[in-house]
Amino acid sequence: MSNQTESVMIDLRSDTVTQPTPAMKEAMMRAPLGDDIFSDDPTVNALQDRVADMFGMEAALFVPSGTMANQVAIRSHTEPGDEIICHPLSHIYLYEAGAPAALSGCSVRFVDGARGMFTSDDVRAALRPVDQHFPVSRLCVIENTQNRGGGSVWSESQIADVSQTARELGLKMHLDGARIMNACVASGTSPKDYAKHFDSATICFSKGLGAPVGSAVAGSKAFITRARRIRKMFGGAMRQSGILAAAANYALDHHVERLKEDHENAATLAKLLSENPRIKVDPCETNIVYFDLDKSAGTAPELEAKLLQNNVRMLALGPARLRAVTHLHVTNADIDRAATIILNLIR
Ligand SMILES: *Cc1c(COP(=O)(O)O)cnc(C)c1O
Repeated sequence: MSNQTESVMIDLRSDTVTQPTPAMKEAMMRAPLGDDIFSDDPTVNALQDRVADMFGMEAALFVPSGTMANQVAIRSHTEPGDEIICHPLSHIYLYEAGAPAALSGCSVRFVDGARGMFTSDDVRAALRPVDQHFPVSRLCVIENTQNRGGGSVWSESQIADVSQTARELGLKMHLDGARIMNACVASGTSPKDYAKHFDSATICFSKGLGAPVGSAVAGSKAFITRARRIRKMFGGAMRQSGILAAAANYALDHHVERLKEDHENAATLAKLLSENPRIKVDPCETNIVYFDLDKSAGTAPELEAKLLQNNVRMLALGPARLRAVTHLHVTNADIDRAATIILNLIR
């Protein structure tokens, strides 16, 4: 490589690739610690109180991953034989290793719709009649932002529509809020205003918020008491986990507002790529850009490999589809460089 900037890798595979910043590491080193299984790690307790307050819920629980946050919630809300209503592009169905079936004995029933979204009518249609033949419809899961739907943002009114009906039908509501702060920053809706439509809500600190490890799930006191026991059962109870919770606290203090920079960078990338007629870019709402290549432009895996040779990483998600995700370590100069490289590769 001729010049130094060009030899630095621009990693757009995911917002999970972020490294803790020096200031975040310092906060981790300074954190007072206890043994969280005795509930006396002050840093974990402070984070849990803060997350509960942020969502306007009674209590919260710190867990190792977003997957565990969702699965602890699912197990806490359901019993074997129950059914979960969710979108076919939802993370709990696509990317959690079959956990609803394996860990909770639940089936899933799909409610389809554009960009990972659905309506109260869809939920009504998916509900099972009360009859011994059928699984019991128990839980409805909404993901916000919706990753595979395009990093799409549910508005509060869309959620209110689904939630009101779901609750009338006796369903519990769970929010997979792995990227809830992206949704809040993009829509101007507060975490509380989203969460009031749910019985449980999660947040992931190791995505765009930049912490190395950790998620949390919030809900009622009774729900969290049960969730704590399930977390133990799933092997996710930790000891001096304040060292990790400190990173999450730091992220909530310093890395929320700046998500709008990630959204601007993603929008810029989407706009630059869409200048090429052989690249079809999905609408970009937050920090995720999906695009499809025309056959004449080669395949997505080929482009992924060529990008890597040019020190740019993106993910091929199919024969024609790629994904780029912006985050804390991606500058607008990086976006210009990545777009230029792609546009040069696909003329
Ligand atoms: C990343 C993600 C999760 C959790 O993933 P982990 O890798 O287990 O932290 C859950 N839901 C959504 C929508 C996600 O994007």
